[in-house]
Amino acid sequence: SGVGGLLTRAAATWPEHPAVRETGTGHGLTYAELAAAAQVQAGRLADAGVRPGDRVALRLPTSVDFAVAFFAALRAGAIVVPLSPQAPGPELEKLLGHSGAKVVISRDADAPLPGGVSVLTPGSDPDGVAESADAGRAGEDIAVISYTSGTTGPPRGVMLSHRALLANLAQLDGIEGVLTHDDRVLITIPLFHVYGLGPGLLHAVSAGATAILSERFEAQRTLDDCAAHGVTTIAGVPTMYAEFAALGAGELREKLATVRRMTSGAAPLHPKVLTAIREATGLDVYEGYGLTECAPVVTSTLVTGYPKPGSVGRPLPGIELRLVDSDGTDQAVPLDPDDVDDVFEAEGETGLVSIRGANLFSGYWPDGDHGPDAEGWFRTGDVGYLDTDGDLHLVDRANDLIIVNGFNVFPREVEEVIGQLPEVAEAAVVGVVDERSGEAVKAFVVPAAGASLSEQQVVEHCAAHLAGYKVPHAVEFAESLPHSATGKLRRLRLR
Ligand code: ATP
Repeated sequence: SGVGGLLTRAAATWPEHPAVRETGTGHGLTYAELAAAAQVQAGRLADAGVRPGDRVALRLPTSVDFAVAFFAALRAGAIVVPLSPQAPGPELEKLLGHSGAKVVISRDADAPLPGGVSVLTPGSDPDGVAESADAGRAGEDIAVISYTSGTTGPPRGVMLSHRALLANLAQLDGIEGVLTHDDRVLITIPLFHVYGLGPGLLHAVSAGATAILSERFEAQRTLDDCAAHGVTTIAGVPTMYAEFAALGAGELREKLATVRRMTSGAAPLHPKVLTAIREATGLDVYEGYGLTECAPVVTSTLVTGYPKPGSVGRPLPGIELRLVDSDGTDQAVPLDPDDVDDVFEAEGETGLVSIRGANLFSGYWPDGDHGPDAEGWFRTGDVGYLDTDGDLHLVDRANDLIIVNGFNVFPREVEEVIGQLPEVAEAAVVGVVDERSGEAVKAFVVPAAGASLSEQQVVEHCAAHLAGYKVPHAVEFAESLPHSATGKLRRLRLR
């Protein structure tokens, strides 16, 4: 059966085992309790008129309420539309309208809603509710419409079938010992994003593990939570590990004593952060690469079992990966990074990452447009290359390319070079209009706590490590940079 079957199976196999627990309130449910609560809420949804194929939006934080509402909506046969609880009114209205949601499950009963949408608050009171049977949706039925974070443009509703979500969990399980019943998985990335939902919550439920749910990441408090809940695995994003690293080795070693594995995805992990965490804890952070359209994990350094700074590893078992040019022709690969001084200069060897596998989406809501092609391939907007080991390196998003006097500059390369300076906490690079060169490189730099840094230092460091046209023409210092909910730099906003 479908994604809802994961919970049915866990409740039958491990009824008394803790399924979900909130770090803030300590509130938690066993698998039997989670299944029972979802069943009751599915009845309330059916009473509210929800029928199979209807859209039910969730506007809930990373919480027990989210887990209950998610499985309830699936049980009622609905397509779940997870939305950010922080989304401002107009954006919420737009996405509810776009998805054609019938009901939104929200703690805020007074949220402004487009006509025809009703609100259900996540209560646990079963009074007067008839229990409902499982609608039995599975396979190609759509389970989730996930709106992408809008890093590069207007949000798009990615349709994920039961087949796609379950396939990605099976692909993850193709990695030996990746998750067991005894694990306590820290999830502080939002559950409304498919990274928190799939490899986080759903993977935990499929293994009968315990999901430790934290509404917000706050380095010191999150670290204390890890110790208090005996967390064993952490699914995180680079900004999180960078903030952990800044807390110091002693603190990390003590508070992460029960942790056996940490993973990072959604944005590039700077090698400096990987090293700092390893030196403090003896543990590696395994980097992965994913997209909402791939439900979401595509590659991970866990596949080989050793982290390789700068690489996102290999495709999960069952996923095929090709690098193509803009006409869809295969690029000559692989490339040995040791053979070239600067892999970013190795033009022609890089290509657009294309993916094929049972985890792929079914096109964008509502018409299923722009899904995988006739042969099953999906072309991402990411540029990358493979090294001789067959490990993938991401160069950047094709859309973020800056063209200076006809020369290509990928911002990530410049950001990484600036990030080598110990005085730098984070850097972002964008293209700005320039009368002479068409575009010019501009850098935004966040100094590390207590450090001071001049524009000249940044420019000189870049000039020593990069070709002249890649060196920033302007440097602006900032206290922080805009990030998406999963820690992605919002370069569009900076531009
Ligand atoms: P939109 O398409 O609206 O811009 P989005 O692309 O941010 O939204 P997501 O599905 O959240 O939507 O993000 C997927 C993208 O995240 C990938 O295409 C890739 O650019 C980036 N990404 C994911 N993992 C990594 C990683 N380990 N290193 C660098 N980039 C990554």
